Amino acid sequence: NFAERSEEQVSGAKVIAQALKTQDVEYIFGIVGIPVTEIAIAAQQLGIKYIGMRNEQAACYAASAIGYLTGRPGVCLVVSGPGLIHALGGMANANMNCWPLLVIGGSPERNQETMGAFQEFPQAVRSSIYGRPGACYVDIPADFVNLQVNVNSIKYVERCMSPPISMAETSAVCTAASVIRNAKQPLLIIGKGAAYAHAEESIQKLVEQYKLPFLPTPMGKGVVPDNHPYCVGAARSRALQFADVIVLFGARLNWILHFGLPPRYQPDVKFIQVDICAEELGNNVKPAVTLLGDINAVTKQELASKKSLPMNYYTVFYHVQEQLPRDCFVVSEGANTMDIGRTVLQNYLPRHRLDAGTFGTMGVGLGFAIAAAMVAKDRSPGQRIICVEGDSAFGFSGMEVETICRYNLPIILLVVNNNGIYQGFDSDTWKEMLKFQDAASVVPPMCLLPNSHYEQVMTAFGGKGYFVQTPEELQKSLRQSLADTTKPSLINIMIEPQATRKTQDFHWLTRSNM
Ligand code: ADP
Ligand code: MG
Repeated sequence: NFAERSEEQVSGAKVIAQALKTQDVEYIFGIVGIPVTEIAIAAQQLGIKYIGMRNEQAACYAASAIGYLTGRPGVCLVVSGPGLIHALGGMANANMNCWPLLVIGGSPERNQETMGAFQEFPQAVRSSIYGRPGACYVDIPADFVNLQVNVNSIKYVERCMSPPISMAETSAVCTAASVIRNAKQPLLIIGKGAAYAHAEESIQKLVEQYKLPFLPTPMGKGVVPDNHPYCVGAARSRALQFADVIVLFGARLNWILHFGLPPRYQPDVKFIQVDICAEELGNNVKPAVTLLGDINAVTKQELASKKSLPMNYYTVFYHVQEQLPRDCFVVSEGANTMDIGRTVLQNYLPRHRLDAGTFGTMGVGLGFAIAAAMVAKDRSPGQRIICVEGDSAFGFSGMEVETICRYNLPIILLVVNNNGIYQGFDSDTWKEMLKFQDAASVVPPMCLLPNSHYEQVMTAFGGKGYFVQTPEELQKSLRQSLADTTKPSLINIMIEPQATRKTQDFHWLTRSNM
């Protein structure tokens, strides 16, 4: 039996059909003729639907729409010569639309004895759906279609996996979120790339969370329903003209969108471009932010970054690091503040970092900062001292702020405030705890008073004080503090009280209620 089976012959046409089936092709559109007829028949025998059309151009348009609708390439089957020429219109259209498509054309016989495994298909399928989707052409010689080969000599390469999902760079995601938050007239443009990416659910959430007016392009329509209250489709020209920030979700700044240029847009409109194709970014305009990645994944990233208020240590240090002068002194103390800060805040010069040191001493920070400020004043005027303190650490020598102000040392104090040592509680939990009991009986020992306004220690002596809760407020206050070389400042940065820990169950509370 085995010997018998190993002799079994199969035609090239069947091999092609099976290769298509293995790639999950469901539909073939085309016009048959020599040598591709056998391929269509073989495909039908395997359960692939074949739709015979009247012109290859229409067949190719149909196949490309399958690609857009399903995310797997539709196939257009044509004969050589004029068949392929007619299909070119559809291929060009698919490419312009960024829609996956596989065109299979028959060509004259080649004098080849065997062709072995049919390798081109998985490659063609992959290049049609990976990266920016588009058209692919596979040329099949007539002699291959009718060739008989031993079944066992054929190995089908398995179904090409769905494209890997790529995400945008985290810093760009943060920047985009802050540009959107600071916009006066934001506008989201939803293109067919968003539709192709199946990003409807996440984009709708984004529209609602940020309260973003949106405008669909013709084929972007329906990603968020046209009757949604934030749809500005009816006022398209005005929306484009007056927007100060425009987020492009899978839409190109081509003629359909007036190239993104005045007079249809504000000359200084900020574009945030989201696209899977790197070459598309920065086409026609200089975007404020580019997010290279899959629209659905990037939208989810944006949603997650919105949720990340209150800030955590990493968000704070990321924004601080962005603005730190390379030659500044970094003084730091605290538990998490110092430990996490050390991994993010960079030093470029020797002897420019002072912290709790070998002895792990808390309360050294302000003294160290004052010393560094004196040295800087005498040896390199203009050099800045940034003192990064935990809220608990700040408490140990907080009154030295008076010294700083008395000598007018332009030190910048950052208090990373989580209402406690290691971690604290938010004010609601705090109130809840004190409902039934005296503070000394119930307040966990590491907790400090929530929402303490440490910045007022600075304003009490004439320095600048800032109370910040968002990345934007942090960026702005730090920028102002760095610009002012005449005065010390203190930025009290509120972060998530449980920032490095998972939520605790409050066993002391339940116990007191027992
Ligand atoms: P419209 O005609 O709706 O304005 P375009 O065809 O101009 O849309 O733009 C579609 C864009 O979507 C293309 O630049 C393409 O690279 C991009 N795109 C396609 N699929 C994805 C995806 N999954 N993620 C991100 N961008 C995508
Ligand atoms: Mg703390």
